Amino acid sequence: KPVLAIIGRPNVGKSTLVNRVIGRREAVVEDKPGVTRDRVTYPAEWAGREFHVVDTGGWEVDVAGIESKVAEQAEVAITLADAVMFVVDATVGATATDERVVELLRRSGKPVVLAANKVDGPSGEADAAYLWSLGLGEPHPISALHGRGVGDLLEAAMAVLPKVSEHGELRPTGPRRVALVGRPNVGKSSLLNKVAGSERVVVDEIAGTTRDPVDELILLKGVPYWFVDTAGIRRRVHQTSGADFYASLRTAAAIEKAEVAVVLLDASQPLTEQDTRVLQQVVDAGRALVIAYNKWDLMDEDRRPYLEREIEKELVQLTWAPRVNVSARTGWHTDRLAGAVERSLESWDMRIPTGRLNAFLGELVAAKPHPLRGGKQPRILFATQASTRPPRFVIFASGFLEAGYRRFIERRLRETFGFEGTPIEISVRVRE
Ligand code: GDP
Repeated sequence: KPVLAIIGRPNVGKSTLVNRVIGRREAVVEDKPGVTRDRVTYPAEWAGREFHVVDTGGWEVDVAGIESKVAEQAEVAITLADAVMFVVDATVGATATDERVVELLRRSGKPVVLAANKVDGPSGEADAAYLWSLGLGEPHPISALHGRGVGDLLEAAMAVLPKVSEHGELRPTGPRRVALVGRPNVGKSSLLNKVAGSERVVVDEIAGTTRDPVDELILLKGVPYWFVDTAGIRRRVHQTSGADFYASLRTAAAIEKAEVAVVLLDASQPLTEQDTRVLQQVVDAGRALVIAYNKWDLMDEDRRPYLEREIEKELVQLTWAPRVNVSARTGWHTDRLAGAVERSLESWDMRIPTGRLNAFLGELVAAKPHPLRGGKQPRILFATQASTRPPRFVIFASGFLEAGYRRFIERRLRETFGFEGTPIEISVRVRE
């Protein structure tokens, strides 16, 4: 589904507008400023069209009073979006910060609709007309508070929002997209420099590639991949308050854009909550996954057993993900990333024909039937793989299947068909 980002300075009424668009009655209020929301995007619908809204409202909690951060916030949102709704306060007019965002919008080339908010009183229309000067086309006067003009605004947005997301279904041809993610200081930019090395590709060499300026084409074993949002990796983020917050937003954006994520961990340090959060983000987004343990040159006899125990304990849910140990500093084993990325993508793309799937399930059920529940036994009637990227399976059954049994099915699916490096979704539809 296409993605619409709603951006603007703090206090322009963005959150009110977001709530109107997604049909949420009240703003989600964070009890602590700067707390990352679980979700960045929300489903929405207008005039029969479904889309996602990138909600930047929660981010501004962190940026209140820091205007310079607005541009950074906007940049992340623009990266995520197929079209942008830019909200300006008509009673204030365009500020210097707004101008900076306009510049970003222009460079992105993404379609934009301009919302002139707080047009409540009689002078409002005239205020809104001043915003033609931003060069973003017609300002749409609205009152997010009263709902006035929001319908027309959304109509204008639907007119420019592409039908199919750039980030959703895949471009059938062209290099595949990799996100290199991980908490600060695990060595992302070091690894990027190592693998990009001398093999930097001039983009125009590859015909038919459209590129996002923040992405970079890198050859792994001679195969080109888009490494998404490398600009974000290369930029040195200063450790001001909220830097982590932006880092985690960038991570979400990069994962969203990519087909496979390489999650970088620091082998010389204990696993942190931030590490597991990034891993979980990849799984939740349904992207292929490679786990890379960096700084292996620092590994010693003392650390080794801790690391192994940690993997057993903390990463037990992710045994399906290929793990490579590397050193970005020395370059040791960095050539193994290519194979792992390729294998994970292959699994991500894999489709099991319906006949084979049902034969497999038949044997599985015969060998280990679902436990009795209330004297009854839910029967599995039929299964099909509903999608690839990632593989999603739908099982039709005569009754609800217990979570334990679904996990058992997943385990056997993996044993039988592989699926190394990809999350799998299994849903059950109950048919009487
Ligand atoms: P980023 O924040 O994830 O991009 O991390 P950087 O690439 O900036 O690396 C953070 C620090 O870790 C820097 O001081 C690097 O020199 C160091 N570093 C990165 N990779 C390795 C490695 O493989 N071994 C060692 N010993 N240090 C590394």
